[in-house]
Amino acid sequence: MTKRNFDIVIVGAGAVGLTAALSFAQEGFRTALVGSLETRRDGRTVALFDGSVRFLEALGLWPTLEKHSAPLATMRLIDDTGSLFRPPPAEFHASEIDLDAFGWNIENATLLEELAAAARKQEGLTLIPGMAAGFEGVGDAAWIGLADGEVLNADLVVAADGRHSKLRQQAGIEAKTWSYPQSALTVILAHDRDHRDTSTEFHTRHGPFTLVPLPGRRSSLVWVTSTENAERLAGLDDAHLALEIERQAQSLLGAMRIDGPRGVVPMSGLSVSHYYAPRLALVGETAHVFPPIGAQGLNLGLRDVAALRDAIVDAREEGLSPGDDMALRQYQRGRDIDVRSRTTAVDSLNRTLLSELMPADFLRGAGLLAINGIGPLRRAVMREGVLPRIGAPRLMQRST
Ligand SMILES: Cc1cc2nc3c(=O)[nH]c(=O)nc-3n(C[C@H](O)[C@H](O)[C@H](O)COP(=O)(O)OP(=O)(O)OC[C@H]3O[C@@H](n4cnc5c(N)ncnc54)[C@H](O)[C@@H]3O)c2cc1C
Repeated sequence: MTKRNFDIVIVGAGAVGLTAALSFAQEGFRTALVGSLETRRDGRTVALFDGSVRFLEALGLWPTLEKHSAPLATMRLIDDTGSLFRPPPAEFHASEIDLDAFGWNIENATLLEELAAAARKQEGLTLIPGMAAGFEGVGDAAWIGLADGEVLNADLVVAADGRHSKLRQQAGIEAKTWSYPQSALTVILAHDRDHRDTSTEFHTRHGPFTLVPLPGRRSSLVWVTSTENAERLAGLDDAHLALEIERQAQSLLGAMRIDGPRGVVPMSGLSVSHYYAPRLALVGETAHVFPPIGAQGLNLGLRDVAALRDAIVDAREEGLSPGDDMALRQYQRGRDIDVRSRTTAVDSLNRTLLSELMPADFLRGAGLLAINGIGPLRRAVMREGVLPRIGAPRLMQRST
């Protein structure tokens, strides 16, 4: 069988792999994407923050995605832990940091469908619907073995094959994994009252219960709770589940109706020692996983892609190939602090909710009071959560 040659082969056609494939093909690299483009509705949405939206805008994808998205103009936090140090509800408005919205919420399956539609039309991008079975990076080339026996040659392979990544294992990159005694129930809801572009997060003893707006009188729910409770909720019929959700939401959005399939996702985490091996770069959940708190996961995955794009474009300007060690080292330097700090922040918030120790309750309560009450701190925290940091990838910066 003849081998096909590419500059870059991406493995995994999730949101991160699809965006990577579109981005590298648009830069003129001969690109292939290995993976299935089929999607399935799972009651999940993703909130995309400012930097992600800028990146998708730069790739010409945002006008279509925006039509399916709802803006998050206000974020409301309600402490529902029953703690002695319970702060009053806090509201944060995007206008306070000169934004129209903190982010935009879109159904996961719709995002994937639109990215796949764009990929099918993208010049310079070859779609290979099979599964990758083997990887090896040696000298100045890498090869990918497909499940049907075909072999692809590439200068750089990008592993976007998710948390159980075979490529990461075959490259010998160590991953640390951990789990939480929680699962997230995910479902899309229709409701009687307008959400007013407001996302509401109730902090409960078992984790956050978060309602995020969708277009119209619809919202998505991520209910992080004990695994037994998530399974019990998932087993209820639509009417009883809607009633329990309305009760937990303190009837904020009026009567609820279940509008689509539901999912239960066990909470776990993963971090890696390295973001690259010879001729291989890790992006998205191949490199980092944490609980769906603060809507960070995919935003971080898109930052991986935008940072890798900068590194390989810079390498090309130096006359180097995309898989050159210099490009991969630049990529690693850019990702390390960003990924580590987000992983720690999400993990710490989750653990203070789970802990019933008074000092943890006090710190969380005092922290929210301070953030809510001190103007400059309040704005700094809002910016930190949603705006790209200094040194962010070029296509995510506000000046572009
Ligand atoms: C309940 C919930 C809510 C969330 N909300 C948000 C949010 O609001 N904002 C946010 O930013 N993030 C959010 N996240 C996180 C976000 O969903 C993930 O970070 C993101 O979907 C990960 O995408 P990915 O492409 O890296 O991985 P995946 O979606 O796992 O994609 C990996 C792909 O690789 C394929 N694959 C695996 N092995 C192979 C192989 N050998 N060959 C070919 N293909 C292969 C798989 O089939 C899959 O298609 C949420 C997560 C959860 C669970």
